[in-house]
Amino acid sequence: MNLSAKAVPLKMCPPAEGRVLLHACCAPCSGAILESLVAAGLDVTVFWSNSNITPREEYDLRLGELQRYCALLGVPMVVDTYDHEAWLCEAAAGREDAPERGSRCSACFKFRLCRAALYAAREGFACLTTTLASSRWKDLSQVDEAGLAAVALAREQVSGSQLVWWGANWRKGGLQPRRAEVIKEQNFYNQTWCGCEFSQRAASSVPTNSNKTQYE
Ligand code: SF4
Repeated sequence: MNLSAKAVPLKMCPPAEGRVLLHACCAPCSGAILESLVAAGLDVTVFWSNSNITPREEYDLRLGELQRYCALLGVPMVVDTYDHEAWLCEAAAGREDAPERGSRCSACFKFRLCRAALYAAREGFACLTTTLASSRWKDLSQVDEAGLAAVALAREQVSGSQLVWWGANWRKGGLQPRRAEVIKEQNFYNQTWCGCEFSQRAASSVPTNSNKTQYE
């Protein structure tokens, strides 16, 4: 483990004792959270399920950055199947023109978190959380709603699962400033759009003098 001495002490506890599955959307969103979970001594596994990201080269780039960081911290990482076509059908169809924080994003969160919850339930994890709401461009309540629904569904499908949703606010407790530091320290590739083609289209229409040059 190569943990920074600057890791922010975790000011919240998981809602259940046992292994934590952290659904991670990208390295910039995950860096500060992950180092704090590890520093707190939690048994954490990273779950990568981000079929929303396109094109494939962009997906691979973001995945590679997080793999590099997990290897540095010695954290196990599970990579879900990439299926952008399924994501388009199940999460985006009919919602292509919805704005960010709208109905497409709710469906997108649910698509990814359902896969994470199912994996967590099958593998006997105690709780599931996500880095999705750590970005200031995301709506925490939308992510929370999707996480709760995903865990409820997984518990229905996997008999005996006691999986619990950990709806933590990862923007609090000093994690937001530390997030920016980790991005710099690790020299993470930092995307300028959320992930799907619709968000890329929206980002490309933002004036170049806007402060939204990085998606953090
Ligand atoms: S903008 Fe981001 S969260 Fe919303 S649908 Fe696209 S990839 Fe998903």
